[in-house]
Amino acid sequence: MSEEEKLLNDLKLSTPSPPEDPPPPLPLLIAKHTKYLARSLTVMPSHASSFDTSRMTIAFFGLCGLDILGRSDLIAEQKDRAVEWIKRLYVTSTDGRIAGFHGGTFLRSDETKSHLHSDAHCGHIAMTYTALACLKAMGVAPEDLEFDNAALLRGVRALQRPDGSFNSSLEGGEHDMRFVFCAAAVCRMLSDEECCIGMDVDAACDYVLSSISYDGGIGQGPMQEAHGGSTYCAVATLALTRRLDKTLGPHRFRRLCRWCVNRLQDGFCGRPNKPGDTCYTFWVGATLKLLRPFEQVEDFIAGSTSFVLETQDSVIGGLSKWVDNTPDPLHTYLGLGGLALAGYEGLADFDPALNVTKRPLIQSTVSWKVLPRQWYLHALCTNH
Ligand SMILES: [Zn+2]
Repeated sequence: MSEEEKLLNDLKLSTPSPPEDPPPPLPLLIAKHTKYLARSLTVMPSHASSFDTSRMTIAFFGLCGLDILGRSDLIAEQKDRAVEWIKRLYVTSTDGRIAGFHGGTFLRSDETKSHLHSDAHCGHIAMTYTALACLKAMGVAPEDLEFDNAALLRGVRALQRPDGSFNSSLEGGEHDMRFVFCAAAVCRMLSDEECCIGMDVDAACDYVLSSISYDGGIGQGPMQEAHGGSTYCAVATLALTRRLDKTLGPHRFRRLCRWCVNRLQDGFCGRPNKPGDTCYTFWVGATLKLLRPFEQVEDFIAGSTSFVLETQDSVIGGLSKWVDNTPDPLHTYLGLGGLALAGYEGLADFDPALNVTKRPLIQSTVSWKVLPRQWYLHALCTNH
């Protein structure tokens, strides 16, 4: 039996059979979710105030969610303000050598700037990732703004630890698979095609290998329980660094695919013996899409569609973790992302490795900074 036949055989035995007579799925309430995400960009409930230091992630769910729905046009009037806000959160070390992004103005404003020890506040890698993704969702390339991409990549590299994992910020903080993924995604969004400038790729791949659990899934770090979120971060890192096949090999690949396939109950769950949860339609669905163990992987991910649609709030819009729960921007975004990966009609083509749409950037082909002055004036006058 060939390796591929063995895998298919193995997955077939492990796959739960779909219900015999499934009820017709609810429609996706696109107009409601559009309103919900647009509203999340302007007002949030008071209990979300604790997210103030990571407000960039809320912007990410809102802006990138509207992009999945094909409704980025709704923020056309606010776009300049949004880009200015993101630019304000760009920070560099005192010598300008490294750079990153903050998650909100709580930590940095023109008034408080002098109170910060700049070198220790060069941003947070998850905020740098979400800032670049927000710009992409608005069709803005980092090259079109006055960011120092080389300093941003040095900022990523400065966070890598000897074991290959990444700290969240220069001050230290947490270090696990989430930030390895953010590092690889930032590298790729800054055109570091194999991530070799922003990271020691061999060390990062070794960290992924050392985090594979006894059951074939991948944890946040060595000796930790495998989980849908950390498994996605690890596999997406291998895909972004173009090391997927080389690092996993056929045996680990087979065990990993089996672990993912077995996460589908009514919806996808994050760990064995846990109930389904909307966000894992993306975390596990995207992992399977990157691994592509069989041709009909989209149909398999679509097995969670009814569950995801049941979690929609038909009054205020948005999706929640479970049926009859309060919707939130994270589950709305990841639920829509999972449906997009399954090929749900009306949603944008989605990139499973970067967790953003594949919509191309409206990118300048030349840098404004190097244009001769007369070119610049000509461009302005002719409205190019
Ligand atoms: Zn969840």
